[in-house]
Amino acid sequence: MRLSRYFLPVLKENPAEAQIVSHRLMLRAGMIKQAAAGIYSWLPLGFKVLRKIENIVHEEQARAGHIPIQMPILQSADLWRESGRYEAYGEEMLRMKDRHGRDMLYTPTAEELVTDIFRAHVGSYKDLPLTLYQIQWKFRDEIRPRFGVMRGREFYMKDGYNFDLTQEDALHAYNRHLVSYLRTYERMGLQAIPMRADSGPIGGDDTHEFLVLAETGESEVFYDSQITDLKFGDREIDYDDRAACQAVLEEFTSRYARTDETHDEAKFSEVPEERRRTARGIEVGQIFYFGTKYSDAMGATVTDDSGNQVPVHMGSHGIGVSRLLGAIIEASHDDKGIIWPEGVTPFHCGIVNLKQGDEEADGACQALYDSLTALGLDPLYDDRNERAGAKFATMDLIGLPWRITVGPRGLKNGVVELTSRRTGESEELPPEEAVKRVAAIYAGR
Ligand code: ATP
Ligand code: MG
Repeated sequence: MRLSRYFLPVLKENPAEAQIVSHRLMLRAGMIKQAAAGIYSWLPLGFKVLRKIENIVHEEQARAGHIPIQMPILQSADLWRESGRYEAYGEEMLRMKDRHGRDMLYTPTAEELVTDIFRAHVGSYKDLPLTLYQIQWKFRDEIRPRFGVMRGREFYMKDGYNFDLTQEDALHAYNRHLVSYLRTYERMGLQAIPMRADSGPIGGDDTHEFLVLAETGESEVFYDSQITDLKFGDREIDYDDRAACQAVLEEFTSRYARTDETHDEAKFSEVPEERRRTARGIEVGQIFYFGTKYSDAMGATVTDDSGNQVPVHMGSHGIGVSRLLGAIIEASHDDKGIIWPEGVTPFHCGIVNLKQGDEEADGACQALYDSLTALGLDPLYDDRNERAGAKFATMDLIGLPWRITVGPRGLKNGVVELTSRRTGESEELPPEEAVKRVAAIYAGR
């Protein structure tokens, strides 16, 4: 993309309404525009990152064997009356009537709808296990929407639902989700720590939240510092292998890590003092096992191998896809702007032309652009007639991890400059070498 032809409405001034750095940077980098309290339009740069995050979620769900579907945003209240949640959900549920006076609602989550699909089409244990998921807009009429996309009223969420014959099978599904979530967040350059949590209105016994440590997080968290040394990395895992999934769960959840809702001071004090940490965290996901709560209420049963009708065991599993943009920025920025991890960056690298209109510089930039594009990479070429300082400031603000700077002086010596946004380190090298380096960084991503 050439910047002169793109739509990147960056702001020079700090927007007064933004209280935290991610909100401020998303507005300044022209990623989002508020449409109403807690409701945003996604501008090209923000939309691109949202899609990247969404794609990683889809790829990791596919790897775990989960099946994508799409359910509607507007739902009838009838199913929610069956489960008893229409009354119980409270004011966070946005309710409305259609022209016939029927009660409708904007989906805050979709346990009822997916259970209805299940009971209509699945009747036998032979069709299990089954995990269906969607990535869809949700609405919760939060009393205090704030921090931009971190606590919106409308937000984009992955919600997945497992259906299993037995509790043991459903607990495997729970473990499988935990493993796949670890992989998902790491691919986005994030460390998200599973912490024992409270079940809230979804209800259930087993639940973990995934928290990204950040000063601006809304949850207070308590943990054993050893947990931050754990990495899932690129280990291969067979998601059908119960023992392997269980082992990962144990590895990542056996050390003390809890939010304030479940914090237990006595247990915490068993952690050696020098490893005890109190911090703040952003919840980027949650997994639940809730047994037969919905299948009992809504009659979702299957026949087992002796011909008995039994309720299915279920769980639900969410990832805050739109919140993740804020969480990633909170975890990765400096005073100049965002620093995107390679896994989610909107463009793979920037090309800055220091002397627009200079034949040689223009030609070299175009050649770089063409070579990178031919390799399947997506560069952003700042071809505007702007001062070098302004171009650098824009690149730093929008946070592309790599920048290639092209100027007449370097070209005389046959070199361009490759700069890492994260370390600020630059290296001079011939243009073909810069292309190779960038391609190598993104190989396999
Ligand atoms: P919270 O405690 O932050 O209100 P929750 O526990 O009610 O969230 P879940 O039902 O677990 O949320 O939803 C799954 C994920 O969706 C959360 O882990 C979070 O990342 C995201 N999410 C929830 N509410 C919002 C919101 N208002 N804005 C943006 N993302 C949200
Ligand atoms: Mg939650």
